[in-house]
Amino acid sequence: MSGRAQLMWDEAVTGYDFGPSHPMDPVRLDLTRRLVGAFGLDRELAVVAAKPAGESTLRLVHREDYIDAVKAASADPAGAHGEYGLGTVDDPAFAGMHEVSALIAGQSVGAAEAVWRGDVEHAVNFAGGLHHAMPGGASGFCIYNDAALAIARLLELGAERVAYVDVDVHHGDGVQAAFWEDPRVLTVSLHEHPSTLFPQTGWPQETGAGAGEGSAVNVALPAGTGDAGWVRAFHAVVPELLAEFRPQVIVSQHGADTHFEDPLAHLAVSLDAQRAVQVACHELAHEYADGKWIALGGGGYAVVDVVPRSWTHLVGIAAGRPVAPEELIPEGWRQEVFARTRQLGPQRMTDGRWPVEYGTWESGYDPADRIDQAVLATRRAVFPLRGLLP
Ligand SMILES: [Zn+2]
Repeated sequence: MSGRAQLMWDEAVTGYDFGPSHPMDPVRLDLTRRLVGAFGLDRELAVVAAKPAGESTLRLVHREDYIDAVKAASADPAGAHGEYGLGTVDDPAFAGMHEVSALIAGQSVGAAEAVWRGDVEHAVNFAGGLHHAMPGGASGFCIYNDAALAIARLLELGAERVAYVDVDVHHGDGVQAAFWEDPRVLTVSLHEHPSTLFPQTGWPQETGAGAGEGSAVNVALPAGTGDAGWVRAFHAVVPELLAEFRPQVIVSQHGADTHFEDPLAHLAVSLDAQRAVQVACHELAHEYADGKWIALGGGGYAVVDVVPRSWTHLVGIAAGRPVAPEELIPEGWRQEVFARTRQLGPQRMTDGRWPVEYGTWESGYDPADRIDQAVLATRRAVFPLRGLLP
């Protein structure tokens, strides 16, 4: 049911590199692209390199003074000392930072254009999903917010209802901020609770403002949430909202840092649950958005064991040739992993937890359960604002 798809890829995106001691190692992008190739998925869809986002596109979301600061830091990294969040521990300045950040943004914008025009139904940019970048500053390993830029471009092209679904372990704060007062964009973020994780926002009570009141949705899950709770929370919130909002296009962000092996966060989700939610996003796009689906990467710091497998599943789903969880990983890729990282790569496309079983919200909830409490807090805060029962 999913014929035409494209993968956005330009090898130069691996130049998005904050240096050897930074957790966002670009080897994760390179290994993902190679695993996609090892499964032959790159023959199932078009592999396309879009041009970098230009100044006028960047300005759809970002302030001009911030763009100027990124360019200055990019030309003279030693001169960045924390202004606009640049030259910090999280976002060190590096030579060529503006160019590669604009290139990643351009892949997401190009994905949005292709899907909106109807050239393809689905487009994937796993180098994107840099959801923390703010209109006026860098944050959380993110310089330009390619997700917000893709959405802004859709609006510029005439879209009236865009749904953004963010399942990264961190709150999608930059995208929420960009469309805080805009009723045309419904942002939904499922993440670890702000009391235990960066960026300390994403409380259920954050619901948007002005004309956008009720267009921001936040599900704050307790540390330790596992597969059944995470998938249950997704299904207890997202489908009903999309049925009501009737998006013309869905942009989803698939940060792989919800995984139990991720070193920077505290959810306990497996690759199999990540895959289940990717499948659900794909189905929701067909059910509610005429198949129009832009899927992005995001966080993910278990760069050998988790990220390549998670986003290879995402590409397979978009390509209409999903990789079965039990499939063995081609030996050539594992040799490449060892050569590049001196680590042993995983052997299968599963963590052994497929299929993911979970109880549906409709079959009842337990007010004493912490995950159900989180879901209830979200539904009570925002569902009535959208005319839905909490
Ligand atoms: Zn993240």
